[in-house]
Amino acid sequence: MAKEIQTIGVLTSGGDAPGMNAALRAVVRAGLHYGKKMIGIYNGYKGLLEKDMKELTYRDVSGIINRGGTVLKTARCKEFLTSEGIQKAAENAKEAGIDALVVLGGDGSFRGALALSQYGFPVIGIPCTIDNDISCSDYTIGYDTALNTACDAIDKIRDSCSSHDRCSVVEVMGRNAGYLAINVAVAAGAEVCLIPEKKFDLSDIMDKIKETTAKGKTHFIVVVAEGVGGVDFIAKNVEKQTGIEARPSTLGYIQRGGCPTVKDRVVASKMGLKAIDLLLEGVANRVVVYKDTKIVDFDITEALSMKKDFDNNLVELAEILTY
Ligand code: ADP
Repeated sequence: MAKEIQTIGVLTSGGDAPGMNAALRAVVRAGLHYGKKMIGIYNGYKGLLEKDMKELTYRDVSGIINRGGTVLKTARCKEFLTSEGIQKAAENAKEAGIDALVVLGGDGSFRGALALSQYGFPVIGIPCTIDNDISCSDYTIGYDTALNTACDAIDKIRDSCSSHDRCSVVEVMGRNAGYLAINVAVAAGAEVCLIPEKKFDLSDIMDKIKETTAKGKTHFIVVVAEGVGGVDFIAKNVEKQTGIEARPSTLGYIQRGGCPTVKDRVVASKMGLKAIDLLLEGVANRVVVYKDTKIVDFDITEALSMKKDFDNNLVELAEILTY
């Protein structure tokens, strides 16, 4: 029979995302609610290797639901990627009395969790990333906040470029995925959106700008996903080929920070509770996911092998609405 879980470790790993703190708070308070001892591990897997951890109480997670970033800090840890590193981390976790682990992060962090599970730790992953690029889940914590931050920034950029009759070419985050970019493009009414999922020809974009200029349009927003890149090059080309003054902008890390939206806080709170419920039901090695508006769970290995569909309707919608 599996050992009864008394002590649960929690860590945040990989890229930070607004709402990680809300998820941490939920995990800790749900665990305490069921009478479990909760241990916070600092700096992701690095903290396990360096024994940088402490017991967390209700008060340790007070006043964090509204804060971006992660109070546990996060890191990318190369040493943990080796089998020696994983073994050392497992030994340190055992020494600290940890019976199970909740990992808040992305796919890489879940691979780490899977590696630790092979040493007998039940693990649960909670998807946190602004990129929404975790295949098993329709939604990831931090995505909604990043969408709103990027949309707000582009609204402001548009104020300026409409006053000057310019084109702004704006890079939006998302790593190799275009979810953030295409949704922001629709929400901000961008005239063009370039994403890695859809091949494009720069000359078509120049033609579109020329065509709409002829119809009376005087300013443009071109959203470029991080996975496409090249905003300087694209802006130069717009100027050269259309005669419209163009400015490149990279939104950068503002998209990773800030106060999480209500959606991120609520999803994070639900997922945190679900993670603890799963562990206490004796269910292990799962990722908590948001699927068809419900919070459910998948086996980690299965979750890591899944592929995510891209909503081509959104691409079409953006094209129809921006002429
Ligand atoms: P994310 O979780 O946001 O996808 P990373 O891919 O950078 O971020 O992964 C975060 C950390 O998870 C890495 O620094 C490493 O410590 C651990 N990790 C990533 N991939 C693996 C793997 N295949 N095996 C073990 N640990 C991994």
